[in-house]
Amino acid sequence: MIYSRYNIFSRIKDSENYFILNLLTGNADILSPDEARIVEGLRNGTPGAAAEFADELSEKGYITDEAAEVLLYRNRYLDFIDSRDQDEIQIFFVTNYSCNFACSYCYQDQYNNPKLELSDEIIDAFFSYVNTKFAGRKKYITVFGGEPLLNNAKQKELISRIIRQASESGLEVSFVTNGYYLEEYCEILTAGKIREVQVTLDGTELVHNSRRFLKGGNGTFDKIVKGIDASLRKGIDINLRMVADKENINDLPDLALFAIEKGWTGNPLFKTQIGRNYELHHCQSAPDKLFDRISLYEHIFKLVKDHPYITEFYKPAYSVSKFLSENGELPDPLFDSCPACKTEWAFDYTGNIYSCTATVGKTEESLGTFYPSVSLKEDIVQEWEGRDVTAIKDCKTCSVQLACGGGCGSVAKNSNGSICSPDCRPVKELLELGFAAYIEKQ
Ligand code: SF4
Ligand code: SF4
Repeated sequence: MIYSRYNIFSRIKDSENYFILNLLTGNADILSPDEARIVEGLRNGTPGAAAEFADELSEKGYITDEAAEVLLYRNRYLDFIDSRDQDEIQIFFVTNYSCNFACSYCYQDQYNNPKLELSDEIIDAFFSYVNTKFAGRKKYITVFGGEPLLNNAKQKELISRIIRQASESGLEVSFVTNGYYLEEYCEILTAGKIREVQVTLDGTELVHNSRRFLKGGNGTFDKIVKGIDASLRKGIDINLRMVADKENINDLPDLALFAIEKGWTGNPLFKTQIGRNYELHHCQSAPDKLFDRISLYEHIFKLVKDHPYITEFYKPAYSVSKFLSENGELPDPLFDSCPACKTEWAFDYTGNIYSCTATVGKTEESLGTFYPSVSLKEDIVQEWEGRDVTAIKDCKTCSVQLACGGGCGSVAKNSNGSICSPDCRPVKELLELGFAAYIEKQ
């Protein structure tokens, strides 16, 4: 019997207790300091567990027969591949890279805006490609930019056409927008099957307006808030995203209060997410204002301790901790966290095809075209498709692989020069926070 390669074992943040979890067998436990000492011993090859405790550890797969574990891993991997083949595909469509905002941190500010413009013909070619290439697969469209919801007659007609064509193809549509003209678009949107509209608010009025302003400098907060209210009234789901860094994170408690007082958090159509502002595409002018992955969540952990009502607005996942506390069980093992070219694709109005939102618009990363002619670089697509923890050398021996999934292929490529390389997630550290926040007190 051996100590399982897939055990994740550490001390719970601000506690004397420890946790152990194993995503391969689906078990998680809190350990007293004495039990933790025994587990530590087993990990280091010095057995010392009393028979009863040893039986429990073995029943739960924390200590295991090596050959049986290899077999279980293989079977669960095959289940994962089968289930991913049935998963819904998210298809991004960029209508334009231009934008009416000049956000202080925008990564698209260095993109060229080719003279080409979106036309009916390009929209038709997009739907024709999608309906052929992904025939028989569950899928939905996410319209993305630049800013797709610009307030001019031509853009409104184009967006209406996308919504109409999606309805004819039986597809739901989501939008990612800065929200400035959301109110003006509510009627157009409700003509189709809208899954959700993602809108970004980076804080309360002053903070938001200092980061997300119009070209020309005017604030955008009030108008976005009106757009959110109007959308919720019309029955449109809103996914509010806060892009966080060291300059705005301390406004999270006030933004949460604002949303609570508006009645948004009590509305079932309303949900939120926090996105970390990071250097995906090019170096930012002030990289020291950025959080790394764990420090953002450590900061949020502290904020929530002081202002518990934040969780009415936003509940961090802390890796699999939130899932475990809400469902009473662990999620399935995550052999791959990067959906690019598997359950995510991106297309843009220039006729190019990309792996996902991280690469869309970077013409050197184009995987082919759907307009004016159809082509696909199958060799690079295969590289994306094959990326998972069984293919990435470092991940194969990593104990947190089934919670991490190998991270983001685009970030990995930017840092290591290869898609099939790791983008490590601080899984253990996140679980230390998550067990403290959600599990230990249960
Ligand atoms: S490359 Fe990164 S951004 Fe793109 S699908 Fe994979 S994880 Fe997501
Ligand atoms: S990306 Fe890093 S942390 Fe994630 S599974 Fe691979 S080696 Fe482990």
